[in-house]
Amino acid sequence: MKFECVEDCSQCCIEREYFPSKKYGKIGVLVLPEEKQKIEDLAKHLEIKIKIIPRIGISKLIDKKQIKILAYQLMGIEDNGNTCPFLDIESDLRSPHGGFQCKIYEDRPLACRAYPLIETEPMILDEKCKFCKECGHADENLHKEIESLLLIKDKMNSDFPYIWRYATNVGEKEDKDELEEGWILEK
Ligand code: SF4
Ligand code: SF4
Repeated sequence: MKFECVEDCSQCCIEREYFPSKKYGKIGVLVLPEEKQKIEDLAKHLEIKIKIIPRIGISKLIDKKQIKILAYQLMGIEDNGNTCPFLDIESDLRSPHGGFQCKIYEDRPLACRAYPLIETEPMILDEKCKFCKECGHADENLHKEIESLLLIKDKMNSDFPYIWRYATNVGEKEDKDELEEGWILEK
């Protein structure tokens, strides 16, 4: 089946999830170190306030001071972490499938280009994507998504023994007590 966005959907630019669990808070859009400056420059040019914080780090020793950042994350604008700052929710402009427009579509991060693909072999789509919920699985029309995901995966390769995840301390009001902030060691 061919993949195509569900009419009028903008869900993946709006809804943010707790990952890998609630204590890590809601995540933002993954931004590679080499993408960060470009995203910041675009935001400045468009006069959009953004917040980019670390997401994944690696180290040779168990020492937070030695962490090398593998990926950052672009946080949502709402208090609960939702809604990408680049999503145009105010104008009447719409994307070809009728969703809200991305103000930086041509320059959007690789993570946005890869979505909803989360695995290439075998091909797995994010079950939270509206297409998956409504239409099931797709295995055609995903060349750009595959290419983008492979590029991200390549950047995530590391032989450093310790992997860290940054807890964002962002989430729903009722979850505030469970949220943590800062680097948490994964392994
Ligand atoms: S990728 Fe999925 S969630 Fe995102 S706009 Fe398309 S259908 Fe909606
Ligand atoms: S950068 Fe654009 S495509 Fe990516 S989440 Fe934001 S609005 Fe959506």
